[in-house]
Amino acid sequence: MNLRDLAPAHVRAIAPYVPGKPVAETARELGLAEKDILKLASNENPLGSSPKAIEAIRAALGDLAYYPDGSGFELKGAIASKFAVKPENIVLGNGSNDVLELVARAFLTRDESTVYAQHAFMVYSLATQAAGARHIEVPAKDYGHDLDAMARAIAPDTKIVFLANPNNPTGTFLPWADIEAFIARVPPRVLVVIDEAYGEYLPDERRSPAASWIGRFPNLVLSRTLSKAYGLAGLRVGFGLAHPDVAELMNRVRQPFNVNHLAMVAAAAALGDEAFIAKSRAVNAAGLVQLAAGFDRLALPYIPSSGNFVAVRVGDAAAAYARLLAEGVIVRPVANYGLPEYLRVTVGTPEQNARFLAALARALGRA
Ligand SMILES: *Cc1c(COP(=O)(O)O)cnc(C)c1O
Repeated sequence: MNLRDLAPAHVRAIAPYVPGKPVAETARELGLAEKDILKLASNENPLGSSPKAIEAIRAALGDLAYYPDGSGFELKGAIASKFAVKPENIVLGNGSNDVLELVARAFLTRDESTVYAQHAFMVYSLATQAAGARHIEVPAKDYGHDLDAMARAIAPDTKIVFLANPNNPTGTFLPWADIEAFIARVPPRVLVVIDEAYGEYLPDERRSPAASWIGRFPNLVLSRTLSKAYGLAGLRVGFGLAHPDVAELMNRVRQPFNVNHLAMVAAAAALGDEAFIAKSRAVNAAGLVQLAAGFDRLALPYIPSSGNFVAVRVGDAAAAYARLLAEGVIVRPVANYGLPEYLRVTVGTPEQNARFLAALARALGRA
């Protein structure tokens, strides 16, 4: 008997998600100390975590013998006041990946399809495949989502459209007015999920108004994370915002304690840490300029990014990745996103960006 045959075909067809290479593993393989490894591969915050979150975790360490509050009362209160929504609009997730999967688990059947863009975040395809559903991938326009083509691609069996704004790994941004017009033309039987994982990094004039649309579009689901700008990727916490009926259905398929106590406590504190977000935004904006200047000097094309990472075209990306890795610099190859000539690099501190650019010049023989 082949054990693999026990799993349904749609599960056997799933290509596992490939995360950024861990620092500890790289250090072991290279015989280097962990502190000498530079990981710019998973869009983590180079400043670390919100100090308010750390403080809240310390204060909560005495509570660990107890189950967390499965209703997430405190955290939902913090989210509700920040985004001007009601607690019944909120679904808490073990990271926002969890939120994306909950949408699929609650609404998607094997006989239905999802629509998302070429080069879009991998989890849309994973969530679709895990449900045994069909996906419709719409060719990108200038590396970003082609909203007209996506609206036309919606089939009679389509249940969910996934949009990422900004998108990962391309960093492309769509004007919110275009997204609003898109939602207005999508049939109400189709859920539109907007993944705003990098929303905090957007400049003021591009800030998302989408939370204020929830009352108007009952088929809208927003996804947010504490993993990126708030610096809490290791804790796993994110949330969805939606019409109360949609949120209630997602909550039915959620594990009762999917978000742990420390994660909830930290998230509630971090959401109030405006100073940390302001600093993170400033460091990121300066880093994007620094990286762009470095790529220009090396005559490397890159996709202008609205996130905390940039996709840069280096040609033989697998070779460049390997040479960077040999120097202890971890970035992300994105061939699995249909971008075989690109590497995605997370924006670091000025020193980290400089080290990466110098290593990249050597890796490409242009030092
Ligand atoms: C990083 C990322 C996420 C989610 O990360 P979580 O850690 O699960 O919250 C979601 N969407 C995009 C586009 C991302 O890049």
